[in-house]
Amino acid sequence: MAVRRVRILGDPVLRQQAQAVDEVTPEILQLAHDLGETMLEYRGVGLAATQVGELHRVIAVFKEPLGLGDGVQLLINPVVQFFDGRAVDEEGCLSIPGLYAEVERPAYVEVEALEVVGDHTRPILIRARDYYARVLLHEIDHLDGILFTDRMEPERARVLLARWRRAWKHRKPGQRIEVREAV
Ligand code: ZN
Repeated sequence: MAVRRVRILGDPVLRQQAQAVDEVTPEILQLAHDLGETMLEYRGVGLAATQVGELHRVIAVFKEPLGLGDGVQLLINPVVQFFDGRAVDEEGCLSIPGLYAEVERPAYVEVEALEVVGDHTRPILIRARDYYARVLLHEIDHLDGILFTDRMEPERARVLLARWRRAWKHRKPGQRIEVREAV
């Protein structure tokens, strides 16, 4: 396994559409495991293949908020089959490091996918709500070139991203930045 380089906002690959996986090859399994390892290394709760520059429909998610539960889930070709309700909560993204903002999404989703277990896969129907639903939706959006700021009111997103770009540009080497909405 290997930690891959996470692409940052401005990299055009983040806006591209990932292709469905037709055949689960050793390279695809490797990609899935690398996503899990990279997510852990970067201390994220989700990571999509597009974020490491690979246009395949593969994601890694943490089933529980970081540090809880049995951890990492690796999914191929995740498809939202059903969603319901609305919920607002704060999100961040490894591709826009340090930006945190509230986003409204469905509170409940059902997602069909192939789950990677070691060196094989099995079909799975996930029923997820709240945190878990949010992470799945955020990562599946990445596979379609959609970022969490696209799910906000455009003016809000514009202001937040302008602040983030300024902070990101002027950060010192190794410095972590944090941009949030003024309360
Ligand atoms: Zn993200």
